[in-house]
Amino acid sequence: MSEIKHNSKLHEEMVEWRHHIHKHPELSFKEDMTSDYIASVLESNNIEMHRGLAVTGIVATIHGTKKGKVIGLRADMDALPIQERNEFSHKSVHDGKMHACGHDGHSTMLLGAAVYLKQNNNFAGTVHFIFQPAEEGGGGGRVMVEEGIFEKFPCEAVYGMHNWPGLAEGHFAVHDTAVMAANETLKITIKGKGGHAAMPDQCVDPIMIGAQVISAIQSVVSRSVAPLDSAVVSITMVDAGFVSNVIPNEMNLTGSLRYFRSEVGNEVKEKIKNISKGISESMGATASFSSVPNYPATVNTPKHAQLCAQAAETLVGKDNVLRNEKPSMGSEDFSFLLNASEGAYIWIGNGLVPEDSPEGGCMLHNTQYDFNDEILPIGSSYWVKLVRSILT
Ligand SMILES: [Zn+2]
Ligand SMILES: [Zn+2]
Repeated sequence: MSEIKHNSKLHEEMVEWRHHIHKHPELSFKEDMTSDYIASVLESNNIEMHRGLAVTGIVATIHGTKKGKVIGLRADMDALPIQERNEFSHKSVHDGKMHACGHDGHSTMLLGAAVYLKQNNNFAGTVHFIFQPAEEGGGGGRVMVEEGIFEKFPCEAVYGMHNWPGLAEGHFAVHDTAVMAANETLKITIKGKGGHAAMPDQCVDPIMIGAQVISAIQSVVSRSVAPLDSAVVSITMVDAGFVSNVIPNEMNLTGSLRYFRSEVGNEVKEKIKNISKGISESMGATASFSSVPNYPATVNTPKHAQLCAQAAETLVGKDNVLRNEKPSMGSEDFSFLLNASEGAYIWIGNGLVPEDSPEGGCMLHNTQYDFNDEILPIGSSYWVKLVRSILT
């Protein structure tokens, strides 16, 4: 049963907050107005808070009527550099910026839970509400951990939630272990010998060599990764040459690597490095390989995933909490918090994706995406149920 009812006063307020945040999207580490807005709602509800963590982050704290464990609940606040193509009244007024991942909804659901729990604090323990900046590639979670969030606000466990288009409204998905993949950027530079396009015999053509490297790399996942492990390698940027009659000196390849287990990631990188070097050197060129880790894999601790599932089941029923969904090869910087603390990260259904209309259930990062206001009370109630079930 829902703690925060549909069409209640708090639901109406949450819709208002969500639309305000959606209308004023801000990019990673620049969430100044968003942070001020969230702080103003917390302040007007007399909720204790600390500001300025990882630039714009906020940690709000509510104590229960009795002493007990301390847990953290986290929402992300940032938007994306996307031009919104929606036409509703709360569409973005910031040109080229858009809440296309629903972080406006995440912040609102957490804020709703904080306001509700401030007024209904009959639990035993303390809750830290973590409003985190810069999930979209900025690694705000990493910065918060580096700035000592868990030293300043020790938590026994930390919990996160992301809306999931394609998962029906009123449904949750809870993974026992891996939820989201690790994400690294790969760079390969092939150095040959440039010269006249009509005299390739006097050159070492890095483009021809690079084309073979790209093809050969595609065999790494299919031939070197065990069939029940997962990895993805996509070469996404190719840069070489400047005019039609010149063979350039070098070719630069950039790509994305995704995996769940670090052993798999290391094996794939080693193979890509060897293939790049082997092919290039056999043709008279050289190759250098480097990788930049972006986000680690988001892996739940089974015990905490179970607590999340139970809280969701008391809200929407056992049949509506999916336990066997495949993890996503997307990535998430909540992983930094989960590497520093035990906890779990779950998906809340944003609604099925309709074939004819992109609105409501449209996919994440799409120019016509919008967070579903109908799930605001469901998400906030889930947070409340989780707090009440753990802090007894
Ligand atoms: Zn996103
Ligand atoms: Zn997101």
